[in-house]
Amino acid sequence: MSECIFCKIVDGSIPSIKVYEDEHVFAFMDIMPLTKGHTLLIPKKHHENVYDMSSEEAGQLFSVAPKIAEALKASFNPAGLNLLNNNGAPAGQSVFHFHLHFIPRYDQTDGFKASWLTKEKQYTNEMFKEYADKIRENLNK
Ligand code: AMP
Ligand code: ZN
Repeated sequence: MSECIFCKIVDGSIPSIKVYEDEHVFAFMDIMPLTKGHTLLIPKKHHENVYDMSSEEAGQLFSVAPKIAEALKASFNPAGLNLLNNNGAPAGQSVFHFHLHFIPRYDQTDGFKASWLTKEKQYTNEMFKEYADKIRENLNK
């Protein structure tokens, strides 16, 4: 039996508060919500992170994102909505089964804080081009 907490949620061996389910994905309320309506969307099949998912599996998951976003909007009328996915512990991942957070936003004191310290002075157009060349090279591998 899997030790993964989200696999256990999918197979029903630990409880969750379900929002949506289809053949490929499962959505449920986050047990430690940042805001009202904080929801998690996961693939039913265990994938640790985005690197571990095929395009098809990612497509199945993301195809449901607008539906969940619309339902959150209709339910709570938030001022905004953040979709967030953490990959790897240094990026903030604590449950190692891919999940997409839906975090409705109400105001600046609603509990969600992301610092966004841009460093444009450290980069040049030449550097951006070099990075893009590298990424393109690896896209074709
Ligand atoms: P992350 O830090 O991106 O890996 O997010 C993991 C999320 O899973 C956190 O927001 C937790 O509150 C949530 N979580 C952990 N265990 C459960 C659970 N049993 N039911 C619902 N949400 C959970
Ligand atoms: Zn799992």
